[in-house]
Amino acid sequence: MSTSGRISVTADNIFPIIKKFLYSDHEIFLRELISNAVDATTKLKTLASIGEFKGELGDLTISVKTDKNKKTITISDRGVGMTADEIRRYINEVAFSGAEEFVNKYKDKAGDAGIIGHFGLGFYSAFMVADKVEIFTKSWTQTDEEEGTHWECTGTPDFVMKPIEKKDRGTDIVLHISSDSTEFLEEYRIRELLKKYCRFLPVPIQFGTKEITEKDEKGKEIKKTVPDIVNNPSPAWIKKPSELTHEDYINFYRELYPLSFEEPLFYIHLNVDYPFNLTGILYFPKIKPLMEPSRNKIQLYQNQVFVTDSLEGVVPEFLTLLHGVIDSRDIPLNVSRSYLQSDANVKKISSHITKKVADKLEEMFKNSREDFEQKWNDIKIFIEYGMLSEEKFYERARKFALFPTTDGKFHTLDELRKNLMDRHIDKEGHLVLLYASDKDGQYAYIQKAKDSGHTVLFLDSPLTAHLINKLEYKQDDKLRFARVDAGPLDQLIPKKDQTKLSILSQKQKDDLRDLVAKNVDKEKFTVRVEDLSSSDEPFLITQPEFMRRMKEMNMMGG
Ligand code: ADP
Ligand code: MG
Repeated sequence: MSTSGRISVTADNIFPIIKKFLYSDHEIFLRELISNAVDATTKLKTLASIGEFKGELGDLTISVKTDKNKKTITISDRGVGMTADEIRRYINEVAFSGAEEFVNKYKDKAGDAGIIGHFGLGFYSAFMVADKVEIFTKSWTQTDEEEGTHWECTGTPDFVMKPIEKKDRGTDIVLHISSDSTEFLEEYRIRELLKKYCRFLPVPIQFGTKEITEKDEKGKEIKKTVPDIVNNPSPAWIKKPSELTHEDYINFYRELYPLSFEEPLFYIHLNVDYPFNLTGILYFPKIKPLMEPSRNKIQLYQNQVFVTDSLEGVVPEFLTLLHGVIDSRDIPLNVSRSYLQSDANVKKISSHITKKVADKLEEMFKNSREDFEQKWNDIKIFIEYGMLSEEKFYERARKFALFPTTDGKFHTLDELRKNLMDRHIDKEGHLVLLYASDKDGQYAYIQKAKDSGHTVLFLDSPLTAHLINKLEYKQDDKLRFARVDAGPLDQLIPKKDQTKLSILSQKQKDDLRDLVAKNVDKEKFTVRVEDLSSSDEPFLITQPEFMRRMKEMNMMGG
């Protein structure tokens, strides 16, 4: 006997709304339907583990098939299935989510068991690409003799339901693809979507078959056709750090970015359960100063379902320079970007990551300083960028940010203060840090400063101008930076007890300055006649600090 009825929704016809507004990306229908198949499978495994399901689990592989002639996509699972009554409750009542109910019922026994859906609208995303959807299903609670259920709906609030013969437990969802969505009948397109959204789902997913070559007992090579499993159901990040070797981490990096040949510098395995759930592995890539760093390499997952790889505005900007995976049950799956940006859990997660990154860097700095120094050139942009853009990170990184000298030694700000106390403090008590950004071009100035017993830093990062501005502005450290060629030494580090002895007359000085000034660009440089008995040079051409910094910052576009 077949029944028909109306799907109970408040709006008279929800489908046009779903089609237009629910998801900006029509392609996520596949993610939603496969997520449901994964949920159904996970539920069955949970029931088996607590002894409620006593039958054979059998092969739980989910399969995806396309049929160009019939214009269908079929998604099949061998999970819990549904009874007619469950279809009425979970499918016909749009937005009444069976996942929620399941979690509530079993949460004491099995935690939330990694159930993906929480919203109850996922299934209807099928109507973004199909003008008719069929369900063939049979519940794990039904006996072999009982009939399964067929449900059919053509995208209006009306549906038809009738019993069918079905041997196996589980569900087949058949989408009759509409004429404006035929792209999804192309094999390459489905493969692309499976790769994007399902790459690390926890249940094996088959799409078609592939040929492999194997050796038989006699060592003869034979070709074999086997199911093509498109996902890796147990990616590294869901394992315990203690189960993984360094090689495992590197291999997983290669799995994520098959096209990148550089190895990551180091990695952080995230593993939190309280007060929010977060797992993942973050990799530090080498960031070359003059190359545009690659962003949007971090992939955000919810329970191994891909959500997005565009985390700008979601995590602090500097973190988008990292690579890897973050996964949280507490991140909503079906929401817009602006929602993600304002979500409280996402905010907590993002500040947790900032803290973990700072912890890792500090640990490396403390435990293996030499190694940290060796990596400095490749991570400095990341750290400097973090210091500039994220106050919390600044406070942490201030302690381990390194400042190399022209002779290749590395110091922290605290060490510099301690070492340079006697020679680099000006009248106001500021620590004056001389620096060079071009060892060859500023060679004479560097040499002169060193000869007078000064230490010169070598700061050549594209963020240097911004960073030293910030360090001076913060005032906590009472710092002042001066480039070696920004003025005569005695002006760069003015001391109280300076006695000046003039050897030239005022007229001689004026004549000399005019002569030199004729030959340099007055916009950029200042000419000063050295009239100190302590100086070897008769005159100095300098580029005032502020003019140069302005120029550099403008070049940087900030
Ligand atoms: P959600 O997954 O957020 O609960 P959906 O609209 O995706 O919402 O699905 C609604 C409900 O339909 C699910 O909670 C589940 O009870 C049921 N369902 C959907 N697909 C399947 C399936 N393949 N096997 C068993 N039940 C399913
Ligand atoms: Mg769902």
